This record gives sequence, structure tokens and C-alpha cells, in this order.
Amino acid sequence: STSHYDVIIIGAGAAGLMCAATAGYRGRKVLVLDHANKPGKKILMSGGGRCNFTNLNSTPANFLSDNPHYCISALKRYTPQDFVELVDRHGVEYEEKAPGQLFCKDSAKDILKVLLTECEWAGAEIRMNTSVSGIRQVAAGFTLKASAGTLSCESLVVASGGLSIPTMGATGFGYEVATQFGLTVLPTRAGLVPFTLHPELKQQLAPLSGLSCPVDAHCHQQHFREPMLVTHRGLSGPAMLQVSSYWQPGDQVHINLLPAQQIQHDLLTLRSEKPQSTVAHYLNQNLPKRFAQTFNELQGWSGPLQAYCNAEIEHIARRLGDWTIQPAGTEGYRTAEVTLGGVDTRQLSSKTMAALDQPNLYFIGEVVDVTGHLGGHNFQWAWASGVAAGNVA
Ligand code: FAD
Repeated sequence: STSHYDVIIIGAGAAGLMCAATAGYRGRKVLVLDHANKPGKKILMSGGGRCNFTNLNSTPANFLSDNPHYCISALKRYTPQDFVELVDRHGVEYEEKAPGQLFCKDSAKDILKVLLTECEWAGAEIRMNTSVSGIRQVAAGFTLKASAGTLSCESLVVASGGLSIPTMGATGFGYEVATQFGLTVLPTRAGLVPFTLHPELKQQLAPLSGLSCPVDAHCHQQHFREPMLVTHRGLSGPAMLQVSSYWQPGDQVHINLLPAQQIQHDLLTLRSEKPQSTVAHYLNQNLPKRFAQTFNELQGWSGPLQAYCNAEIEHIARRLGDWTIQPAGTEGYRTAEVTLGGVDTRQLSSKTMAALDQPNLYFIGEVVDVTGHLGGHNFQWAWASGVAAGNVA
């Protein structure tokens, strides 16, 4: 026996649930399938358990894609304010932890509850512990071979996410479906992920493990002024996570350790006003003490400032303002928050999220080649693309 639905959505994550509620409210008979035992696992672990569910300052410039214009339409039609209104209607309390970044006051569970409640109100059915072993196109849509039996639908929405955090149920399923239907999948790699370091630097920085300082880091002209965190495995913190999305193996990462300072000017002034002062003293005033000390030792700066000529001061200033490192790699999908690359958006409609050549086959959320910066942008893309597809599927 075959159960028929108007819309089947594969993936009960952020994008899939949003899409399900939207389509359900239109009166469509909707089924969401997921192989995991619980829906929205990534929502629950997001934002350190408090879910940074949107960013009020989100613009298309906060997204990486081979086809940067693709995301504009959906993001414009479903804005951060729209999601805030939804959250408000459900009485969820939230706070702006950093400019524009909205987090739940209590728990990420609140966001998942909003989505599940909306799905219930919209009459969308959710079936967990269900995997799909085959998809066939038929005249009126698709037939799916699922672990629970054969299913059929008019519209099929792929919302199975990217490859990050395989232990949470991430698979390349969506890419396989795209390939099966003749779509190009752009190479994927881990994004918003900590850097690993070559043994020598890793050992040198080991004493700084646990320390964080505000920096301006850049790679390929993309600057991020946010905290950097030294860990026992390498470099992390928002600044490094952001830069990692632009980094390719072999690239250098540039770090301004004192972005608020006019380093060269400061050192020259200090030298003329207090010739006996040291670089170590200057660093101590502007960086966490342990960081200042270790970095100073690493660079071998000693003796009073008056012993340094102008060229040497300039060199020191450059070392601090443009500390250049070459990461060994990243921690990969194991800890990455997102997957870069994915289904090529050139073959999708920016209005409906459907494949241009397969108008009943939709791709939404992280599975497509749209990746947001850190700070709530990735969920905003999941909501916006979910709504765009849900309005037409
Ligand atoms: P997902 O939410 O990953 O959902 C995909 C669903 O598909 C899953 O339920 C999965 O079980 C299911 N699935 C996968 N393969 C199959 C298959 N073969 N068959 C059936 N079902 C399948 N973004 C933010 O904006 N703010 C944050 O605070 C934030 N914090 C994060 C923290 C962590 C640790 C991580 C890993 C990510 C974080 N993100 C954050 C990113 C955000 O979680 C994702 O961008 C978002 O969840 C993507 O939504 P999605 O619906 O496309 O995919």
C-alpha cells in the first residue's frame, strides 16, 4: 500500500520544519521524514544550547555562495523580523547577546517547540526513525522507498542539511538526491570550524590554552573583528571560526592582536616618554597578561624601548598588527558548524527553491550552496528558504 502526500520533506531540521508548517497552513497534506530518533537535534545544540536563532543585521553580504545573488530573494521575503514575530507570538524570551544576535534566554528547546507546535497547528505529520532508500520520479511526482513502506508525493523537498557533526545524524543524502536528478553539487568543506596548528606553533601556544582576546583576523580580504580563543588543539573563537569559512588549505591567516591600538604610534610615543619601558610592558597593558608574556617570549623582545631603532619598532608593530600564521588545517566536519558548498544554486529557482529542470523537487537549508557567517545567519537562511519552498511546494 502506498500512502500519498502532497508534500514530503526529507529532514526534520530547521529548514524542513519551517517548510512543513508553511505548506501545511496552505492546506497541503505534508509529511516530514527523518532518519534520526528526534527532530531538530542541531537546533538543540546550537548557540551553546541557547540557539542564536537569527541576526537582526543579516544581509546577503553575510552569506558565502558561488552564486551570491541567489539567497537575496528568499531572505528579503522572510526577514529576521518575521522570525522574531513568530517567536514573540509563542512567548519565547530572548536576548541580544552581541549586536543583532538573538539567543533564547532559557533554552534552544523553546525554538524547537515553536517549530513543532507550528507543524502541529498546520497539520504537518512528522515521522522519525525513517530512512529513504530510493526515490523514483513518476508522472505525478515521486515515489519513495522508505523504511516504513512506499510513499508518494507531488512535491519533494530535500532539507537533509550538510555534513557537519556526523554524530548528530548528518549525511550526504541531499547531495546524492541532487546528483540522481542531474544537478551539480559543488565541492563541500567544513566551515565555521577551529583551526589546527603545525606542531611547533601548537607547542609554543600551548601555555595560552583557554585564553581569549579581541582581534581583527582576516583571510582573502574578509575581516572579522571578534574574539580569538587559543585551545589545546589550535585556534578557535568567533574570529577564527568566521575566517575558516574563507580559508583554503595552504592559506595564511592574518591576525591583528591589538585592533584598537595604533601600535607603531604607541610604541614610538612610549619610547620617547619612557625610554626604559619595554614591549612586554606595552603588551601587558593591552593583552591578557599570560598572552602578553608568552607572545613576548615567543618573539624574543627584551630590553628597554630606547634600544630599538625606528625600523625595529616598525617591525614589532607589524608583528603585533599582522601576526601571520599558517594553519595546518581545520578540525573538519567533526566540529564544524556548517558545510560550505553543496547543491549548485544556479540550477535552482531563487523564488521557489525548486530545481529549474524538476519543478517539483526542492532543496532548502544547508544542503544548498548558501552558507552564513557566524551569528544567527545560518538559521535565518534555513527559515527563509523553508518558507520560500513551503509557500509553493
Ligand atoms: P539540519 O538542521 O542539519 O537538519 C537536517 C535534518 O536532516 C536532520 O534532522 C537530519 O537527521 C536529517 N537527515 C540527514 N540525513 C538524512 C537522511 N539520509 N535521511 C533522513 N533524514 C536525514 N546556526 C545559527 O544560525 N545559529 C547558531 O547558534 C548555530 N549554532 C550551531 C552550533 C552547532 C554545534 C552546529 C553544528 C551548527 C550550528 N548552527 C547555527 C548551524 C545550523 O545548525 C544549521 O545551519 C542549520 O541547522 C541547518 O538547517 P537544515 O534544516 O538545513 O539542516
